[in-house]
Amino acid sequence: MPEGDAVWRTARRLDDALSGQVLTRTDFRVPRLATVDLSRAEVVATVPRGKHLLTRLRADRELRGTREWSVHTHLRMDGSWRVLRPGQRWPRPGHQARLVLAVPSAQAVGFLLGVVELLPTEREAALLGHLGPDVLGADWDPAAAAARLGADPARPVFDALLDQRNLAGVGTMWAAELCFAARVHPLRPAGEVDLEALVAPAPARMDPERYTRPELRVFGHKACTRCLSTIRVLKVGPAGRRRDAHHCPTCQPA
Ligand SMILES: [Zn+2]
Repeated sequence: MPEGDAVWRTARRLDDALSGQVLTRTDFRVPRLATVDLSRAEVVATVPRGKHLLTRLRADRELRGTREWSVHTHLRMDGSWRVLRPGQRWPRPGHQARLVLAVPSAQAVGFLLGVVELLPTEREAALLGHLGPDVLGADWDPAAAAARLGADPARPVFDALLDQRNLAGVGTMWAAELCFAARVHPLRPAGEVDLEALVAPAPARMDPERYTRPELRVFGHKACTRCLSTIRVLKVGPAGRRRDAHHCPTCQPA
């Protein structure tokens, strides 16, 4: 699943391609929004919030009392946004498209998006207000994130890191990297971990403006990049949503 940094890059790509332009065509290929037509709306911006994307539009007329609308999308497991030239052949089958936003210079096609919603922009905060501090957002606050992570002191720290209500943008890849950097075993109870020290490096590690390819020290490795021990993968989390926790049994003792 794409994590906060990948979503941030997607937002930047959509923002560069669409913002400031007027939509020539919209095609919502989800049943609930199939009749919506926002062509002639101006694209204001696309911004990331954790793993969520908000594409803000200003319609050319009032719809249900407002002109300011936001398209909320989420990539979930398999989704992606592709920015293509007008008329360019899609890289994936048409039946996988969930949303098309076309402007004179580009078409953005969202394939297999896990969420496609339309809401008045003023309701963004209500929709995403449950999210914790966004690692890559202006509201990032490691002390606030640490306080949320520690609210359930018995919870395995790896599982707490994945909970977007604690901090937004971290998935299994970055949760593994943060635990590895702090030499913390993924099952260690959150209450026994220096949580602020654990999350403080997150913005620098995940900053997509500072790397071209994320520098991973444990996730996806067979051997530890510090001590050469064999990397282990544990299933962490409650039944039904257990997630892989890559860790080094030597550097991160239980
Ligand atoms: Zn190691």
